[in-house]
Amino acid sequence: MARNKYDIDESIEESYDIKQLGRVLQYVKPYRGQLALALFLMLSSSALTMLFPMFISEIMDTYIPAKDIKAIVTITILSLVIVLYACICIRFKIRITSRIGQAIVHQLRSDIFCHLQELPFSYYDDRPHGKIQVRVVNYVNSLSDLLSNGIINTITDMCNLIFILVFMFALHIRLTLICLCGLPVLMGVIIFVKRRQRRAWQIQSNKQSNLTAYIAESINGIRVTQSFVRERENTSIFNHLSGNYRSAWMRAVKYNFIMWPCIDSISTVTTAFIYVIGIGWISGELYGVTIGILIAFTSYISRFWEPINTLASFYNSLLTAIAYLERIFETIDEPVNVKDAPDAIEMPPIQGNVTFRDVCFSYEDNVPILNKVNFTANAGDTYAIVGPTGAGKSTIVNLISRFYNVDSGEIQIDGTDISKVTLKSLRKQMGIMMQDSFIFSGTIMDNIRYGNLTATDEEVIAAAKTVCAHDFIMEMENGYQTQVNERGSRLSSGQRQLISFARALLENPAILILDEATSSIDTETEILLQKGLNRLLQGRTSFIIAHRLSTIKNANCIMYVDKGNILEKGTHEELLALKGEYYKLFMSQYDFLLEKKGTA
Ligand code: ADP
Repeated sequence: MARNKYDIDESIEESYDIKQLGRVLQYVKPYRGQLALALFLMLSSSALTMLFPMFISEIMDTYIPAKDIKAIVTITILSLVIVLYACICIRFKIRITSRIGQAIVHQLRSDIFCHLQELPFSYYDDRPHGKIQVRVVNYVNSLSDLLSNGIINTITDMCNLIFILVFMFALHIRLTLICLCGLPVLMGVIIFVKRRQRRAWQIQSNKQSNLTAYIAESINGIRVTQSFVRERENTSIFNHLSGNYRSAWMRAVKYNFIMWPCIDSISTVTTAFIYVIGIGWISGELYGVTIGILIAFTSYISRFWEPINTLASFYNSLLTAIAYLERIFETIDEPVNVKDAPDAIEMPPIQGNVTFRDVCFSYEDNVPILNKVNFTANAGDTYAIVGPTGAGKSTIVNLISRFYNVDSGEIQIDGTDISKVTLKSLRKQMGIMMQDSFIFSGTIMDNIRYGNLTATDEEVIAAAKTVCAHDFIMEMENGYQTQVNERGSRLSSGQRQLISFARALLENPAILILDEATSSIDTETEILLQKGLNRLLQGRTSFIIAHRLSTIKNANCIMYVDKGNILEKGTHEELLALKGEYYKLFMSQYDFLLEKKGTA
């Protein structure tokens, strides 16, 4: 399992898989009609403008010596009409390609996002979130131009090259062959640069990914940063990563700066050469070269190197795009290892009997976390899970919702193995409240309605009243319509929990899983939360990773977990009488509370 920190580069593939380009063409396929139209417009306009040097040659060699003003005027008007047509074609092409580019990018982004929604927790456990974001936003954006304009321009340039060659050969075969002598030199440069250029763009994409990952991590952790006064150190890490990105980018574009001057130099040298040879041949009256032919020919030469130049730049964008595509398809291809079995059935309405039978689990190979865990929970009862940090409490509750697959053993709900039912039908009947009750940006009403979009306002308010959240919500400036920020920074942790209680209640889950927050809250809120919780628990099986004594004492059964095993199980009184681990834990909390009372 690759733990990928922000400053650890992702792996780089040596050779690229051309199939990825084939895959991306699937995204282009629905727009082939519009692309064909854009291509036709571009090809027709460039074929027509290709006639200009021929016109010049005719005017110079035929019509000026013959003083045929009428023919010259006709050719001039024809040229103007062609220019006008070319302008209109370019305008339409830009409109079509930008529309298609954005449509493709939208589709690609939507596919990657949909897949991300399905990927299991283990995928997110394993990599910085910024590295995922950069794929969905930056990499996909960078492909927009390539997938629309790039395709059209490449085909147009290739056709232009063929047109130009045809015209050049038609004009003068020997001069054309001399001009083509520059091509082997260019091929040599491309072969030299190709591998290095691809690697440079891969490194650049890695550095960009590292930088984004660090920015995302820093924004998420800004409170900790400021409270530990780490701003200066973080800025220096940022500058280091940003400097790496800048250097990688500079190294990658350096190869562009090799290509373009090379093409320019080859073009200039061959043009000069053609002038020298051409003038020599004109003065020696050799091989039928005239002034008109020479002017037209040199005009074709400059046009001949133009598409080669743009093809070289397209090749460069292609290498960048491949580096991005590798990452995008890597995400889209990431296997969803927690998914419905092919013959998965719908989970019948849950009564709430939960059984763990010899459940073993590990996050990483050869690091067992749960070791043959066995227990049975009865419908409607509340189970408190207690134990030291890192004991495996959260792991147990995560397995009930099948956020991870077990390594061996079986988890049954009402006698049905949960790996045999669809994830949707299972999770729809469960309410899960994590420790940091997540609040989404939007209104409080939206937040409570998050898991049940069809709930009416009245139902939302009723749920909030049941869990004792209504009063504090009504005290806010716009009541249920008060806007809250992502993560609920405007709310206290107790208020965030009450909102998440209401959210869970509205979903009316048969099984409730709650990771209780450990943060100390005032007694008033504690009483409120306990009251809300008691109402929430009524009539459903609940598993609570409990820290508050009040919750623990009220549970029907307490499971004391340590090192991935359930060491003790029973009611509060039974476990106290056992005088084992739970007794020690309880006594330490009890002493602590007494101490607190004494000092108050
Ligand atoms: P608890 O909830 O009791 O504090 P957890 O169930 O969260 O403990 O963790 C149990 C063990 O599993 C710990 O040793 C922890 O380091 C490890 N662990 C938890 N989550 C992961 C993860 N995503 N990847 C690898 N190890 C993990």
